[in-house]
Amino acid sequence: MPDQTVPPASTAPGPSAPGMPPLKVAILPVTPFQQNCSILWCTATKRAAVVDPGDGVTQIEEFLARQGLTLERILVTHGHVDHAAAVADLTARTGVPVDGPQQEDKFWIDRLPEDGAKYGMLHAKPFTPTRWLGDGDTVAVGDLVLDVLHCPGHTPGHVVFIHQPSRLAIVGDVIFQGSIGRTDFPRGDHAALIRSIREKLFPLGDDITFLPGHGEPSTFGQERRTNPFVSDRAVARG
Ligand SMILES: [Zn+2]
Repeated sequence: MPDQTVPPASTAPGPSAPGMPPLKVAILPVTPFQQNCSILWCTATKRAAVVDPGDGVTQIEEFLARQGLTLERILVTHGHVDHAAAVADLTARTGVPVDGPQQEDKFWIDRLPEDGAKYGMLHAKPFTPTRWLGDGDTVAVGDLVLDVLHCPGHTPGHVVFIHQPSRLAIVGDVIFQGSIGRTDFPRGDHAALIRSIREKLFPLGDDITFLPGHGEPSTFGQERRTNPFVSDRAVARG
């Protein structure tokens, strides 16, 4: 589904955290909505996580094989069809656990087949996460430890994954370069979304690079300066 007001088109690869601890990340745009499915991995152990497989099971498996990676888990930021439609297929094929989203997104996961049919994504199936996530949880991928933040607003159970040593966040549809997530879907909440961004994400630091669910990466500092919805100036204006 279209997740933001003005979706920028992009197939650009994400940052690979140069000179940082052993994390690499690649982006595979999937679904009619060019959703940024991310594959991140620990270079020391070659263990990987796939974040938001909306589609592209074959592409994902080929990428893992080409890089010599072992899939350790699937991570899900939120239950929208372009982010979660292929979770069931990928976990059935690989047997790996599914972490996230937060359980308030269960109603979105339950309606994946009907939303999939609406957008021509007939592979969309519901699933039950191995673990629902919430604030303060952590997720391990090889030697990497990702922090979890619950950032409601776009959906009520949306979570964000952060690798502090790499100064990297995977934010799904919470914030984009120059935009924010739509809140006109069922149980969307604009005020909650602004709070999630301003009170949970921005305090992590201006130097955090984020990979959004659609379009180009940016940094929290850049958005704090220029994002028309959540910049310091926009918020001061009210
Ligand atoms: Zn979404």
